[in-house]
Amino acid sequence: MAESRPNRQFSHVILGLDGTLVNTDYVVHQVLKSFLVKEGKTWDSKKSQCLLGKGPYEAAVAVLEDCELPYSAEEFLNLITPMLTEKWGNIKALAGANRLVEHLRSKGICVALASNSPRANIRAKLSCHPGWEESFAAIVGGDEVTKGKPSPNIFVEAAKRIKSDPSNCIVIEDSLPGVLAGKAAGMHVIAVPSIPKSTAESGAADEVINSLLDLRLEKWGLPPFVDWIEDTLPIEPWFIRGPVIKGYGSGSGLLGIPTANLPVDKFSDILSEHTSGVYFGWAGLSEGGIYKMVMSVGWNPYFHNSEKTIEPWILHDFSEDFYGEELSLAITGYIRPEANFRSVESLIERIREDGRIAEKALDLPIYACYKDSTYLRRGQSN
Ligand SMILES: [Mg+2]
Repeated sequence: MAESRPNRQFSHVILGLDGTLVNTDYVVHQVLKSFLVKEGKTWDSKKSQCLLGKGPYEAAVAVLEDCELPYSAEEFLNLITPMLTEKWGNIKALAGANRLVEHLRSKGICVALASNSPRANIRAKLSCHPGWEESFAAIVGGDEVTKGKPSPNIFVEAAKRIKSDPSNCIVIEDSLPGVLAGKAAGMHVIAVPSIPKSTAESGAADEVINSLLDLRLEKWGLPPFVDWIEDTLPIEPWFIRGPVIKGYGSGSGLLGIPTANLPVDKFSDILSEHTSGVYFGWAGLSEGGIYKMVMSVGWNPYFHNSEKTIEPWILHDFSEDFYGEELSLAITGYIRPEANFRSVESLIERIREDGRIAEKALDLPIYACYKDSTYLRRGQSN
């Protein structure tokens, strides 16, 4: 990754759409899965991950090869495209997207949207996000330029429309083609990779961040977010519930930090909406008690986990295990992105620090109010 240049000043921002602001990959995954099941085939999120960054034709060829279906790529695209089009009006925002768009608008920063998607699809995707379309001074679709990303055309055109020199523009992009396009256009590029553990973007971008929640705009001369409170970021709360299962064993065994893991197969929808990282909030156990908790969501880089997991650490000393008990969680704030560590000691130290931050922050009214949520009390006798 290139060295960050804290003194650089940028005045304009150009955003990608699919995988940067909205969760397109999940929609594509769901449509493919339902189509392929009807064809008697199986499809899982790992297979979908192999499609990220591929164009529609390339992706179609990959699916047909994997599933050995008797269609040509054109036939397959003709079948699948209407199913996708139907979904664009319900596409969800990625973590931090609303916050970013609103922040830039409220600070009067000139923002353009530059997407390989055709304009009609962009319009459909923006339709379910009130206030977004008006926040963009220009929108450039893939059908408005001769060549899409990784060609720089789309970003050059966006800069022209917002009357900015490319060198004053910051691009935020999730995919390698987008990063390469931004660099080729002579812009400063922040990558927010949507492919887990992806390193391809790292070499090409000026900065790589885990999610939009981790943006530090002040590094680039733009107005900073001012919503962090005591090292925590309040988020729109989300709620999950499930039976406590045994995890990879790394928690209590190696780290001495017992995590109450939840079965990920039940939460694939919600996990795709939430970026990996360290969160905190409140935990309710069906046998009783509401406790503070801190939790990691993601692949746990230190242990090279193969799937995205949810590992809540309840900040309370329990005398015995509670496997099988129902655990309800209200996730109210974000602390940091997932990170790798040089040693298990530094990992433990950081987890304990996360615990201290969560413990303290949860007394703040903005987080404390969720302790009384009825969601946490299901199954409890009082
Ligand atoms: Mg993208």
